[in-house]
Amino acid sequence: MMKVAVIGSGVGGLASAIRLAKLGCKVSVFEANEFVGGKVNEQWLGKYRFDMGPSVFTEPALIDELIELCGKDLRMFSYRRLEESCRYFFDDGQQVIVPAGLEQTVVCFDKAFGEDPKRTRRFLKRLSKNYHALSPVFIQASLHRLKQWLNKGVFRALARLPYYGMIRTMSAVNQGRFKNPKTAQVFNRMATYNGSSPYRTPGLLNIISHLEFNDGPAMPIGGMVQISKTLHQLCLDLGVEFHLSERVEEILHANNKVQGIRTSQKVVDCEIVVSNMDVHFTYERLLNGMHEPKKILEQEKSSSAIVFYWGMKAVFTELGVHNIFFAKDYEAEFESIFQTKTRYEDPTIYVHITSKVEKGDAPDGSENWFVMVNAPINVGQDWDEFVSETRRTCIAKLSKSLQIDLESYIEEEAQNEPRKIESVYFGKQGSIYGNSSNSAFSAFYRHPNFSKSLKGLYFAGVTVHPGGGIPLALNSAKIVERCVREDFKR
Ligand SMILES: Cc1cc2nc3c(=O)[nH]c(=O)nc-3n(C[C@H](O)[C@H](O)[C@H](O)COP(=O)(O)OP(=O)(O)OC[C@H]3O[C@@H](n4cnc5c(N)ncnc54)[C@H](O)[C@@H]3O)c2cc1C
Repeated sequence: MMKVAVIGSGVGGLASAIRLAKLGCKVSVFEANEFVGGKVNEQWLGKYRFDMGPSVFTEPALIDELIELCGKDLRMFSYRRLEESCRYFFDDGQQVIVPAGLEQTVVCFDKAFGEDPKRTRRFLKRLSKNYHALSPVFIQASLHRLKQWLNKGVFRALARLPYYGMIRTMSAVNQGRFKNPKTAQVFNRMATYNGSSPYRTPGLLNIISHLEFNDGPAMPIGGMVQISKTLHQLCLDLGVEFHLSERVEEILHANNKVQGIRTSQKVVDCEIVVSNMDVHFTYERLLNGMHEPKKILEQEKSSSAIVFYWGMKAVFTELGVHNIFFAKDYEAEFESIFQTKTRYEDPTIYVHITSKVEKGDAPDGSENWFVMVNAPINVGQDWDEFVSETRRTCIAKLSKSLQIDLESYIEEEAQNEPRKIESVYFGKQGSIYGNSSNSAFSAFYRHPNFSKSLKGLYFAGVTVHPGGGIPLALNSAKIVERCVREDFKR
């Protein structure tokens, strides 16, 4: 039986473990932390529960696919579709509730922003077609294996090239398409789903809007953490072994082949290693920099975040599950993030309140607020000062928008910021999604899902192809499985 060591138990690592165990391999997962799930974990503050990382969940079918692969009952993971995709608060005081679903979005953008329904509908349909053309060949397959390029799907996807918006930025495409700058701002927001700037990333990334507006976001029953709990359970059912609080320190190899790993506790022999840790650190720390693909590793990093977790008295204004309070100068905000500057007033604020639908997440008459602001990566800024300044500006802005004294509502509090993201999840400089997608060719500057120099070494997770976010990390595991099948004739 072929032995596999998976480094890291993020969703990309867990999904790889499931897939390779199903191929008949003996799989062991080594996790530096004492908990499973990487960024998809939870924390209790008094009587309040918080999902610590992701809050927006799209493509639940990818979890269903893994459950089905294991022959389990789909009911082991359930989720609700949110009727309201997001509430938007603009700096001039306008508030817009965007419902989920193509037709509902069309009507909403007409009423709220005066957009021509025909134009909005045509655009959303185009994004749906783009997504379905690209997904099977570029998101669920390797960009770095000729074999995976040679099929009809690739030609179908290439035939749509003029519709992707490759040569203009996301913002330019959206500003050209819509007459109201606010509509463009709402579409532009999707660039942040993989830590990029809409003013630099190509229009192609508008396909994320298909998932947000046409499909609408979902919420797992029990919170986002149910994603990692479900994948963990599937692993256990397949006999995957877990070694928690056991950091991998070296990938052992000889004659260009993987031989095993050395952990903080022992040496383990194996033919296959799947690294779910940040690809940067895999090279820097586990391979001592050897075979380093410099061009890929030196790309600009995606953004990071400052998050405040507030357990608080319920706010009398009726907020939704997802709420965005836009900055007035959105473009300047992104520029400062990617110039790694720490000073900017009036940030765009993302407020997620799961206790709106998960009643157990907060006591009666209270709410659990996850308040996130996009932030630069850690290059040694004064984070203590920056975090406290951001907290002050967030409270001031939210208090003004909601006409309350927000500070007096807060009962429990925790914080997260780039230094912690780097030290807890080992993301290079606290970047959440590895390389940014801030250029038209960034997809080609993501690390492949396999090593070109070491047979048996594979990569899954947000820092490699196809990119950031839970769905893409799950797809990276699918590609790893395909590569292992090809390489080991399984
Ligand atoms: C604040 C925040 C908000 C986010 N919002 C969203 C969102 O709304 N929607 C969305 O889809 N995504 C979101 N994301 C991103 C999402 O969390 C990730 O895309 C997803 O969890 C996939 O992670 P991964 O598989 O790359 O592994 P990770 O979660 O990065 O886990 C990697 C694991 O490897 C372990 N590890 C590292 N080095 C070693 C070593 N040497 N030995 C052993 N173990 C090691 C780490 O401890 C960690 O557990 C957000 C992330 C953050 C931080």
